[in-house]
Amino acid sequence: MAGKLRSAGYQVQEQEFQYLFFQDLEGSVLEKTSPGSVSYALSNEFGVIGSTAPGDVTAAIQAVGLNYQPSDYPPPPLPGQDPLPVPGTAGCTAADFTSFTAGNIALIQRGGCPFVQKANNAVTASAAGIIIYNRGDLGGLPNATLGASYTNNVPVLEATYALGSDLRNITGIKVHMVADVSRGTITTYNILAETAGGSPDNVIMVGSHLDSVLKGAGINDNGTGSAAVLETALQMAKVKPVNKVRFVWWGAEEDGYGGSTYYLDHLSDAQLATIKLYLNFDMLGSKNFGRFVLNGDDAGLPSGSKAITTLFQGFYDQFGYTSKLDDQTRWNRSDSAIFAYRQFHIGKTLINGIPIGGLTAGYDELKTAAEVELFGGTAGNPYDSCYHNACDDINNVDYDLLGLNADAVAYATLQYAMNTVKFNGQKGKGNFKQTQPLNTKAKGFFQ
Ligand SMILES: [Zn+2]
Repeated sequence: MAGKLRSAGYQVQEQEFQYLFFQDLEGSVLEKTSPGSVSYALSNEFGVIGSTAPGDVTAAIQAVGLNYQPSDYPPPPLPGQDPLPVPGTAGCTAADFTSFTAGNIALIQRGGCPFVQKANNAVTASAAGIIIYNRGDLGGLPNATLGASYTNNVPVLEATYALGSDLRNITGIKVHMVADVSRGTITTYNILAETAGGSPDNVIMVGSHLDSVLKGAGINDNGTGSAAVLETALQMAKVKPVNKVRFVWWGAEEDGYGGSTYYLDHLSDAQLATIKLYLNFDMLGSKNFGRFVLNGDDAGLPSGSKAITTLFQGFYDQFGYTSKLDDQTRWNRSDSAIFAYRQFHIGKTLINGIPIGGLTAGYDELKTAAEVELFGGTAGNPYDSCYHNACDDINNVDYDLLGLNADAVAYATLQYAMNTVKFNGQKGKGNFKQTQPLNTKAKGFFQ
């Protein structure tokens, strides 16, 4: 990739960084050793929490905080309503551990604060192991992660609400828990390529993550986004942009947005202030797809994001395709979040994030009947049924959709390369017409 970009005339940087790598080795154990003995089912009743330390502990269980059952929770919100607050803050403060016996395994219900906060409080109270189980109103396993900030050496498992509330009701219970994981520091890269020309004070960034999970090749997630951004960069190599365009392919997204976090952490406030917007492309060819446009109007997103939404909606409209606004939940699961929530100062003014925008064809959530009306496909199935699995291979892509979405990447990139008037009044030179299709060569380039 770097070679292709250099050959096309870009200044390419391979930015090396290290991060805490984590892999579930899938042999974890949770079993009651007294009274009696029972083995619990890995992946059904319990699992590891992301970024846990490896470990093998046998000890008594001690419950921390209260247990809330399903009837304690408010009903889910109706469409258009805000969710009601849910009860439970077990383990969120050190005070919850005042009667905790060092060397026990802490059993804590989810809710009220991040998993890592509960885990760190338990470690401070000298827990030998930690089990965090689900809220009473949520079925199944949390599928949680502590995040790379958890560097303690105490193992942490997660459990279903049913198992967690069972375990806390058995008097004198001892369990054997094994977190079978690999955790360590590894070295990887971001690849950055920017145009030689264009205003360095008015930079637009266009990015996708280049890494995948270990289970599969990661062709839809995110070979599709990466290839679309690469092809756009190559096609644009001869364009003389008004603004500097910086293309980027992130490393370590799948391990907690490591690449984008590292990149932004190593820019000064003055450098951050030159970045006017960030476009993110993650999973552009999901087979049971939607055409989802980030809703830049969502609360908490930097102002300016809405203009990008309008641009992408306009792209789909113009070529006769339906699209759907997508709330920020999904966008918090990609590098876009790191830009949207990055705070910095211009002089004494606090800037709350860099405007973001982008497209996706959908991740692992289930398609709704209303979305089938809009896009076809199968209701009740995931947008990408191979998400984070071995079958995310070259056959796991809707190539027509990818061709269309790659056009949209090119369309938005060229628009903002020439003109960021909607963000900061910076006018272009007028050599861009929004009414004509762009980069038509890109359409179908994967076929
Ligand atoms: Zn992804």
